[in-house]
Amino acid sequence: MYCYKCGREIDDTSVKCPYCGEAQVVHQTQTNSESDKFNIMSLIGFGLAIASVVIHVSFLTSIAALIVSIVGLMDCNKKKERGKIFAILGIVFSVLSLLFFLFIFSQIFGVYHDFLNPIMDEVLQGEIY
Ligand SMILES: [Zn+2]
Repeated sequence: MYCYKCGREIDDTSVKCPYCGEAQVVHQTQTNSESDKFNIMSLIGFGLAIASVVIHVSFLTSIAALIVSIVGLMDCNKKKERGKIFAILGIVFSVLSLLFFLFIFSQIFGVYHDFLNPIMDEVLQGEIY
């Protein structure tokens, strides 16, 4: 392998670079501990999305879950943290709950539409004749 600091070829088992003294193992454990960290944002997004799907808290919760999950996913990519799968699931579930709310809204709107249409027709006909 090559030294992280000076780039000179050193033994694979070397703990320290014999040329510049840079510790090689410490460098490796640092990158490992970084990737072991869980991204909080994606976990929160996932939790919110699950809550939105299971108990249908509110339309705003679904939107919040979607935003937090997307931020969590970008954060995971940027910081190389774990939890990307939770962020993706959070996005999927929040989109599902948004679709559910859109369905409910369209049903409500549909009922109003059916109720208002005859009235609107009468109003329009009254204006024409
Ligand atoms: Zn070195």
